Amino acid sequence: MSHHDEIIEALQQIGYRLTPQRMMILDAIASSDGHTGAEEIHEAARAAYPYLDISTVYRTLDLLKGLHLVSETDLGRGHAQYELLSRGLHHHLICRECGGILDMDNSFLNPLRQSIDQQYDFHSEIEHLAIFGMCSACNANLPG
Ligand SMILES: [Zn+2]
Ligand SMILES: [Zn+2]
Repeated sequence: MSHHDEIIEALQQIGYRLTPQRMMILDAIASSDGHTGAEEIHEAARAAYPYLDISTVYRTLDLLKGLHLVSETDLGRGHAQYELLSRGLHHHLICRECGGILDMDNSFLNPLRQSIDQQYDFHSEIEHLAIFGMCSACNANLPG
């Protein structure tokens, strides 16, 4: 099943229809290799909608986040990165030195989520988390 079909199905399940322009923006995220920024999405969607302005892209991204279709995360690149949540929950370990990104399985966060929710009587949504630190290669290169 293509990403496009996945999204349509997800939307149908919640009884929501996207306009073709919004669908195009969603497609631009889906066809990127994972994370993409608003500027790149704008660039890609403008191939089909030359008059699309960036504020429409941001408004649509807000809407898609609200529908839990897209996550927005600061991966340390200076601007937010967007990714489809239908690709499955995952998180990232990001090296401050070399900028390398490791994928982290969602299962690590289940115990954390449970303790937080119990302790604070809260329902946390940890959809896409970035943890900053240092990778083993950079750590090994540290002087001393
Ligand atoms: Zn990610
Ligand atoms: Zn590193």
